Amino acid sequence: MADTPGYPATLRLAGRRVVVVGGGAVATRRIPALLDAGAAVDVVAPDASTEIRVAAAAGRLRWRQRRFQPRDVLEPEPAWLVHAATDSPAVNAVVATACEEHRVWCVRADDADASSVWTPAVARGADGTVAEGVTVAVTGGGDPRRAAAVRDAVLAGLDSGLLPVRRRRPRSEPGPKLGRVALVGGGPGDPGLITVRGRQLLAAADVVVTDRLGPRDLLDALSPDVEVVDVGKTPGHHPIPQTRINEILVEHARLGRHVVRLKGGDPFVLGRGGEEAIHCAANGIPVEVVPGVTSAVSVPAAAGIPVTHRGITASFVVASAHDGATAALDALRDAPVTSTVVLLMGVTALADTARRLMESGRPPTTPVALVESGWTPAQRTTVTTLADAAEVAEREGVRSPAVVVVGEVVRVREQVGDLVSPTLLAAAAPSLVLLAHGSPDPRHAAGVEKVAEQVRRRWPGHVHAAYLDHHPPSAPEVAERLDGGVLVPLLLTTAYHVKTDVPEAAAAMDALGRGRYTVAGALGPDPLLFAAADELLARAGFVPDPHTGVVLFAGGSSDRDAISVIGDAVDRQVLAGWGPWAVAALAGGDDVEAVADRLRAGGARRVLVVTYMVAEGVLRDRMVTHAEKAGAEVVPGTLGETDALADLLVRRAREVLTAGG
Ligand code: SAH
Repeated sequence: MADTPGYPATLRLAGRRVVVVGGGAVATRRIPALLDAGAAVDVVAPDASTEIRVAAAAGRLRWRQRRFQPRDVLEPEPAWLVHAATDSPAVNAVVATACEEHRVWCVRADDADASSVWTPAVARGADGTVAEGVTVAVTGGGDPRRAAAVRDAVLAGLDSGLLPVRRRRPRSEPGPKLGRVALVGGGPGDPGLITVRGRQLLAAADVVVTDRLGPRDLLDALSPDVEVVDVGKTPGHHPIPQTRINEILVEHARLGRHVVRLKGGDPFVLGRGGEEAIHCAANGIPVEVVPGVTSAVSVPAAAGIPVTHRGITASFVVASAHDGATAALDALRDAPVTSTVVLLMGVTALADTARRLMESGRPPTTPVALVESGWTPAQRTTVTTLADAAEVAEREGVRSPAVVVVGEVVRVREQVGDLVSPTLLAAAAPSLVLLAHGSPDPRHAAGVEKVAEQVRRRWPGHVHAAYLDHHPPSAPEVAERLDGGVLVPLLLTTAYHVKTDVPEAAAAMDALGRGRYTVAGALGPDPLLFAAADELLARAGFVPDPHTGVVLFAGGSSDRDAISVIGDAVDRQVLAGWGPWAVAALAGGDDVEAVADRLRAGGARRVLVVTYMVAEGVLRDRMVTHAEKAGAEVVPGTLGETDALADLLVRRAREVLTAGG
């Protein structure tokens, strides 16, 4: 019998007669579940445990104080189910035989093989939790301890919020249903940093009202019939006012829905969760809060910065810098000068905030960390000082969301670095595909591969190079092996390729159906490209000299504008100290000879040429010949060999990711 599979079913025993033969420990253990199921329990046993006697005295079951007789199965009315639970195998066998004869199901506790019914180990969702009403019954193939172990794991699963236990059919309860609202802190971005309670409520939600911040990955895991309302705000742009958000919560709850208001970090830390709670309460909607891991503490932690540290400071102050430094200064009035200052929403007004912190007595040399997109693959930390913070943030393109940390604790990072597990970020990081020109010259692809290698050092996910023409792999060929990601043009102008070829490549990659590709912005003209030129000049040992003119020499394009924007964008700050600057091109721009002559006419005694190229190749060889003919000195190397270019590629990828999230 043990070989054929059983047929699981739920017996609905309410009001039905169940006979329990035996009054000892086994019977006593079995009876409560029968009573819970509403069975009319008849115990047949010459002796019985105290529990059974008490239950009989209270009228919850009947106890026939005598030995079992086969007619007990049929009288006073036929039983639906019998438990043979005596400690005598012989008696149990007599019970089972009588049941078999009258076709009544019989559980034999002492002999699974001889039993027509097996009782499973049962896991039930706890009352008052979202799993309430779920029952899972486990049999272990004749091994009850194995069944119990599986049952325990199922119970843990029901508690975890990972299982889709949300009700799909409304409870059949009379009267109007009132929904409820849970203000759930989602943590700083990683899906592992939400609380268990938060996940449980999310798994049970009918409606999820979300923000731009917080663990958006969790939304992807919701079943398609869960309504997601995005009320996300971006800095300086408030699509849905707070009063409207408050109303949305109440409107959905009034329709009887379970509403989760999923917020980044903690709902009550600069998150306006308090206002939402008050509004719900005032409208009679049951509301609960589930605290979250606030970015104020966790984002510095991810960058290896403890907000307090023995020997440095025992306090920290969290303030909004949305409206400049006022809130922080108020908070700091009575705080020790060693207190760590944590500023949220601090990017836009950083210059003002830093200045006023210095005015109020913080030394200009105080370390500052700017931690962007903490706990996401785009996490980046820039360390500077109060005096330099605004300028550095501008130069590095620091963007919201970022946490600004001011204080000596920032130095702890020097000893520990980032404290986010790289595997965690790698798992979440999209792949980057760097899309370059191809060239028949093998030196070109070798140079592009070196760029990819530099980007790999800076990006936690996969990085691949693909080529627009001449040789494989093409972008769709690379996409065959991936499941979506970011397409970053490895092209230095904004011309035809960026405008047309790159979007076409992305469309072809999307069309494979393996995942979507987001296209990153064009590389040029960005100050980092001029920083790359500066890097090449410095590496070759040239020192800035006002009598030396410098030419950026591009390969060229039929699109003249694409060349001229490079000249318009030359960043004098990056290239400080040099003489006149100009841009030339092999095609579609000014001739290098003419440009060199112009610089000399403008006072340059010497002209240096930096090739505005990603990699070596025949095209660059031609540029070198032209430049030398023009009497200029060619600076060795290409932009692709610089740190600045690799930084720029990663920055472009980060920008599209944060813009989308
Ligand atoms: N309730 C949230 C804070 C909301 S204010 C919490 O407890 O974390 C929004 C600000 O939080 C952002 O401007 C930024 O300063 C910070 N922030 C939130 N998530 C962040 C993240 N993953 N990385 C960096 N900063 C973050």
